[in-house]
Amino acid sequence: MKDTHKVEAAHGASRSRYSELKRMLDERRREIQAEVQGKMRGVREEGTWGGKLNEVLDAVESAEADIQEDLEFALVQMKSETLSKINDALARLEQGNYGNCFDCGEEIGEKRLRALPFAVRCKDCEETRENAEQRERQLASRRGTSSLFLDV
Ligand SMILES: [Zn+2]
Repeated sequence: MKDTHKVEAAHGASRSRYSELKRMLDERRREIQAEVQGKMRGVREEGTWGGKLNEVLDAVESAEADIQEDLEFALVQMKSETLSKINDALARLEQGNYGNCFDCGEEIGEKRLRALPFAVRCKDCEETRENAEQRERQLASRRGTSSLFLDV
């Protein structure tokens, strides 16, 4: 056995955390890329299918097909936004700015990052923040603001 293992161990936990996080982000990126590509293909296939079907379908049904395509498109758009977020996260990881809490600077748990890759706060800080926001909302509703329902 060579002593390369010792050298790796000497790099410490942050080194393995880095590669662990990088692998997680890379995996997620691949997953989403594959999904987006699959969807694009699906939309195109359905599109040619739909072209023939539309000759027999009535106006209502073809409108429904349009809505379906719009939904697919929105989904693809959402996925590509996620992709750019992952790219940002990877860039931040390279700079050593990824995975640390925005508020207290502590490392965000790997489990949490796995569930929420774009989390910017550790669990504790996020909870504190959510509680504060909730209190804020309660105060706002007690004041009787109808503005809360404006964009529903
Ligand atoms: Zn924190």
